[in-house]
Amino acid sequence: MSTAFIALGSNLCNPESQVEKALCSIDTHDAIKLEKVSAFYESLAVGPGFQPNYCNAVAKITTPLTAQKLLEALQKVEKHQGRQRGKKWAARTLDLDILMYDELVITRGELLLPHPRMHQRAFVLKPLSDLLTKNYIINNESIASLLEKCKDQSKVKYIRRYELKTRRSF
Ligand code: ADP
Ligand code: MG
Repeated sequence: MSTAFIALGSNLCNPESQVEKALCSIDTHDAIKLEKVSAFYESLAVGPGFQPNYCNAVAKITTPLTAQKLLEALQKVEKHQGRQRGKKWAARTLDLDILMYDELVITRGELLLPHPRMHQRAFVLKPLSDLLTKNYIINNESIASLLEKCKDQSKVKYIRRYELKTRRSF
């Protein structure tokens, strides 16, 4: 069994409910168990032109799937929620990224792990820090000090807690 952290983001079609819906799909997947979910946060969009604000969260999951199969499962959830693959960083109904998968490091190819930009993004680090201890090390630095250094930190606002609805075991 492996442990992974997944970042969820949406800035279209009622972002909060898109993130909730994605969490339900992840939770009901036969081979994925939702262990913990961060609070929901609102963040300003980075990317081309004007875009609505994002709703962001991070989930801790356990799974027997390989990292590649997990990515495929998450892409199905994105597609199911109407994700159009357009311009890089364009507005989207749902974005699911694997932040970390056990201690796995992949530096080339379709799937990069740990996620190469996570340590610079407050909208990832803030929800992730709900699930980790302050001195958890990412890229040789504690999550607390990475977050402190993030320029966009002030642009990430707490919305509300998320209650984990079901508790399943495999
Ligand atoms: P982004 O999340 O950077 O805004 P996309 O969601 O459109 O961009 O993803 C583009 C590609 O990133 C995906 O097709 C996927 O193969 C690749 N990718 C690389 N590493 C990861 C990862 N850790 N998690 C999710 N996707 C990843
Ligand atoms: Mg993505």
